[in-house]
Amino acid sequence: MVIYRLPRGESVVYPLSHCPLCRARLKPADLVPLVSWLLLQGKCRYCGGRIPVRYPLVELATGMVFLILASRFYGWQLVSLQVLAAVLISAAVIDYRHGIIPNSLVLAGFVLGLGLSFFNPVLGWQQHLLGVIAGGGPLLALAVLSRGGMGGGDIKLAAVMGLFLGPRLVLLALCLGSLLAGLAGMVLLLLGKKGRKDTLVFGPFLAAGAFAAIMWGQQLVAWYLSRL
Ligand SMILES: [Zn+2]
Repeated sequence: MVIYRLPRGESVVYPLSHCPLCRARLKPADLVPLVSWLLLQGKCRYCGGRIPVRYPLVELATGMVFLILASRFYGWQLVSLQVLAAVLISAAVIDYRHGIIPNSLVLAGFVLGLGLSFFNPVLGWQQHLLGVIAGGGPLLALAVLSRGGMGGGDIKLAAVMGLFLGPRLVLLALCLGSLLAGLAGMVLLLLGKKGRKDTLVFGPFLAAGAFAAIMWGQQLVAWYLSRL
């Protein structure tokens, strides 16, 4: 719902969930992630219009990320990582489809991350603020140097990632995200899908980099240090 409404300037709170085609108000039974879509065979109960498969796919992906996180983390850390995952998945899909990362989404992520940071039993709040600089700083520098090659939304999203993850993990996330974006750019160039001047949205790669850093960050850093 967030992914659909924010780029269209609609409120997240009101009106209640409705079919994007006929505007019919949806009943609770229509709103069960994935299950409703399967039971209704991808059609609106009221107007019979097709509901695109990306809606249940995003729900499925979000559920899987939540489960994977729950298999590794617990307590405070799990809650804050799941909040971050919800923000990043929303940002990634909106950026992919519309080429923007809405300010309201980044702001909501920042407020939630700031609130959560005061309850972190491991990292102090100073580490979280340092993470904001470590996340946003490099992309801001890149934006200045490349005169707008990096979008403002990406800079703000990276700062929010840093707020949640702290300086070390967010720097790793930026490296991994850039690596993935570089690889994807090369593949698209080789396939002739994009020219060298075309830009690639960076939001999805930031989200993927954050996920990789969260899941394998410790091992990656240990492996890297062992090679020195
Ligand atoms: Zn409908």
